Amino acid sequence: MNTISTDQFRAMLQTALTLVREKESYLSQLDAVTGDGDHGTAIVAALNAAITASEAATDLKAMFNDIGFGIMLTTSGSTSTLLGGFFLGMAEGIEGAEADAGQLKTMFKSGLAGVSKNTKAAVGDKTMMDALMPAVTAMTGTESEDIAEILAAGAAAARKGAEATIAMKANFGRARNYGERSIGTMDAGASSWATIFEAFARHTGPSAK
Ligand SMILES: [Mg+2]
Repeated sequence: MNTISTDQFRAMLQTALTLVREKESYLSQLDAVTGDGDHGTAIVAALNAAITASEAATDLKAMFNDIGFGIMLTTSGSTSTLLGGFFLGMAEGIEGAEADAGQLKTMFKSGLAGVSKNTKAAVGDKTMMDALMPAVTAMTGTESEDIAEILAAGAAAARKGAEATIAMKANFGRARNYGERSIGTMDAGASSWATIFEAFARHTGPSAK
């Protein structure tokens, strides 16, 4: 796979919604350990908003802008700000209707920069950044020019990063008030981002329909 189009990205989002919906109650249970237990509901709502907002645009830049604003305008809370910021960042990193492998890497790097505008969390803080940062590092670090391989590298790194949050103590946001009690459970945001990256890779990978 050498390029990615708006239609292909919309299909990736659909796959993300499908996989996240399957895990909706699990994600809310993870969030309930150190938070208000709404993460599954919030991420499903945000992805639904993303898909609705993606429908009009005919190029990637406009589509990512529509998605970013769509998420922020129709949902609330940290998921809205962070996922919305990710797509607005993606928009800043792309021109044109399609993206090749190099542009895909730039796009995701720019997405991460968009999230970083809205949080100071980094790897080790037990947040979504524990999945997103290594995923983007793996994607931009691979020599591959094949989009399916790049997304597969991102998915593997995101999952590994999410697994690593199990042993971590929450160091950020409201969850840090739980201290030692936060150890032993995967971070909900890291878990959902790992699932989103897995969906992107599944959609475009060798087993994709
Ligand atoms: Mg929550």
